[in-house]
Amino acid sequence: MKICVIGAGYVGLVTGVCFADTGNNVVFVDIDTDKVDKINALTPPIYEEGMEEMLGRNGERIEATKDYGAVEDADAVFICVGTPSNEDGSMNLSYVRKSVEAIAPHMGDEWKMLVVKSTVLPGTTEGVVIPLLEKLTNMKAGVDFGISMNPEFLREGKAIYDFTHPDRIVIGAYDKKSEEMMRNLYEPFKAPIFVTTPTTAEMVKYTSNSFLATKISFANEIGNLCKKMGIDTYDVMEAVGMDHRIAPYFLNSGAGFGGSCFPKDVSALISAGENAGIEMRILRAVMAVNDAQPVKMVELLKKHLGELGGKKVAVMGLSFKAETDDVRDSRSIPVIRKLLEENAEVSAYDPLATENMRKIFRGIEYCRNADDALRNAHGCLIMTDWKEFSRLNFDLMEKPVVIDGRRVVENREGLIYEGICW
Ligand code: NAD
Repeated sequence: MKICVIGAGYVGLVTGVCFADTGNNVVFVDIDTDKVDKINALTPPIYEEGMEEMLGRNGERIEATKDYGAVEDADAVFICVGTPSNEDGSMNLSYVRKSVEAIAPHMGDEWKMLVVKSTVLPGTTEGVVIPLLEKLTNMKAGVDFGISMNPEFLREGKAIYDFTHPDRIVIGAYDKKSEEMMRNLYEPFKAPIFVTTPTTAEMVKYTSNSFLATKISFANEIGNLCKKMGIDTYDVMEAVGMDHRIAPYFLNSGAGFGGSCFPKDVSALISAGENAGIEMRILRAVMAVNDAQPVKMVELLKKHLGELGGKKVAVMGLSFKAETDDVRDSRSIPVIRKLLEENAEVSAYDPLATENMRKIFRGIEYCRNADDALRNAHGCLIMTDWKEFSRLNFDLMEKPVVIDGRRVVENREGLIYEGICW
């Protein structure tokens, strides 16, 4: 099959490269020249485990361009552009609209299927994408072209594994022909397929993300209480997670969730609820707990160090989680902002995410390795669960005050050590 992927970010690139790996020809269309050049040079523009190798071995089936003319030859066109938050938390659909407007002149005479893979609020495919494309092309959805909504559940860092080993594939099919085409495309991954309407598929994605975010904030609230009561919350959650109705995942308390999905998707669902006259009380509390959690790290540091003005604080970890270079909504952002407000001197280290964080904070010191960040520091905040942070050389610090936001530090002897929830 000839596939065109619009938007070669974390989701688009992984989708396209994995479909190329099952024998399809893939053209990426992106507005970012740098990304297009890198893909054509078979150099991954983002970090993902296994991406370099998979891109390399499928080079002859992959190309990238800025030209939407690539849509003309495609059998299936996947929209994978971003859907970030507006200031008020609502979903920003402008990238999706722009890509539909750019696709429209290239729909041609041959039947093709459009797939919405970006995370969009329930009703968007049927209420926005289809009417816009029908208006711009004078064509009829389900007759002249096919439509599917196909939410993506991959985790950054494990994206290729997740895409090729999914728990389930959700296909929100508008028409039978699209359903068949999607079944064929995903057949090699041997996963259960759940077919439903586009609107239900959209809701499945928001519900999954909101539920996982709720588990994390719940674990953090219990963790905060356990700390006060002198109980080890990790023991509690280990036993709780052994209940198959609950499952052990997303129960690690710590500095909270970040990333490009959970915060924006929960906020968008709260906003959608408000528009529908439903007060989303649980999800509001999920966000409130999550916002409070990282700032606690700085409070704990001040408990041990007093005022932070002029003191060097090592921030270990900038990406929102380990194994990715993505800093979007990373919990280290509010922490660094607070440290700067307190006039602390921030020395930061991350194995992959430094260049991305440099675009957000210029005036802090970015170190090439963990030792440089720790040297002569008065305090250290562990923000990301990178494996290498389990054994750091805290002897280099001026005063070994370590506040762990991810429960990764193993060599705690001789430290003034405190965990955020333990
Ligand atoms: P991203 O920001 O990494 O990638 C988006 C890409 O789209 C960028 O390369 C950008 O240059 C490109 N783009 C923007 N406007 C364009 C246009 N008009 N034409 C062509 N290209 C354009 O975003 P992402 O993280 O891949 O997320 C994409 C969507 O998938 C979002 O809706 C997100 O919520 C959803 N999603 C993300 C993840 C994840 O882990 N990142 C997981 C599941 C779902």
